[in-house]
Amino acid sequence: MTPRHIVVVGNGMVGSRFVEEAVRHDPDGERVRITIVGNEAGRAYNRVLLPGVISGRYSTDEILLPRVDGPSVRVRSGTEVTDVNRRARCVALSDGTKLSFDRLVLATGAHPRIPGVFGLRAPQGRQGSGVATLRSLVDCHRIERLVRSGTRVVVLGGGVLGLETARSLAIRGAHVSVVEAAPWVLPRQLDRSAAKILADSYASLGIAVRCGRKAVSWQPGHGLELDDGTVVAGDVLVAAAGVRSATYLAERAGIAVQEGIVVDDTLTTSDPRVHAIGDCAQHTEGDAGLVSPGWKQAAVLARLLSSPGC
Ligand SMILES: Cc1cc2nc3c(=O)[nH]c(=O)nc-3n(C[C@H](O)[C@H](O)[C@H](O)COP(=O)(O)OP(=O)(O)OC[C@H]3O[C@@H](n4cnc5c(N)ncnc54)[C@H](O)[C@@H]3O)c2cc1C
Repeated sequence: MTPRHIVVVGNGMVGSRFVEEAVRHDPDGERVRITIVGNEAGRAYNRVLLPGVISGRYSTDEILLPRVDGPSVRVRSGTEVTDVNRRARCVALSDGTKLSFDRLVLATGAHPRIPGVFGLRAPQGRQGSGVATLRSLVDCHRIERLVRSGTRVVVLGGGVLGLETARSLAIRGAHVSVVEAAPWVLPRQLDRSAAKILADSYASLGIAVRCGRKAVSWQPGHGLELDDGTVVAGDVLVAAAGVRSATYLAERAGIAVQEGIVVDDTLTTSDPRVHAIGDCAQHTEGDAGLVSPGWKQAAVLARLLSSPGC
């Protein structure tokens, strides 16, 4: 029997876990051979630990995930999948080559959401001057370049990622302020009184927390103007205002997309040969944006696609 070829798009936390699980089920590559294509350079890494890289707690090497390996696995890093041709069952890559597939697994993750505040975005959708996000190692290195000891940093967003980032930047020696539009920080997790205790403990670390005001405009070196006319002084702004699923490949290929790529209980999209897992996928159970449900999806799909009867 010729092993079926699975192409995985995205060598992130969930795509790499899928490969690991598939190799566990089929170590000799008798049933499946896999090519995983990732547009980031090098090995997959633990994204959750990026704030620790900023604070200096971890080096880049220390957050690398185990190398995905096996006789039937090929990793193509630093290469983007630019197009999916469902009819021809192949994907086009940024290096000009094509890969045919029997099954396609989309694990393209998510992009940081940059709020529509004046000054945060430059033309062509790029980040504005002094603006950064934290999703990848490239983002991390940009923050490391922008933020030195004494730099004034405004973190826009008082959710889990914003607060964690603020703490890492403070450990780095920056003067950090957090701005949150909701009446208190972590509005989805905490009530007002618990959030007050948290904000006070942040204040004791030198991190100012400003809630209940919307951002109006950003000017690096001056700061972030709020809707009451006050300005939170800042040289750098880190936007931590949520993420949106990376669905563009699926959309262009005519696969059903809502907030994410719509999948059923078998992680199958509207095309029976195409699957989606992790932050790019939208399953009825919700929980998008966390790694643990993505790893469960990877395990379920790997078992399914590497089973003899599939
Ligand atoms: C700073 C930070 C802290 C976090 N903390 C937590 C936490 O404490 N707990 C928790 O549960 N979750 C946390 N998360 C979220 C968690 O990291 C994600 O849920 C997880 O990474 C999702 O994995 P994924 O593989 O779906 O997406 P990703 O890890 O984002 O991987 C997607 C990969 O696909 C690549 N890609 C996209 N499009 C293409 C293409 N066309 N061709 C090739 N490659 C492509 C991307 O570049 C990326 O490498 C955190 C995230 C961040 C950024």
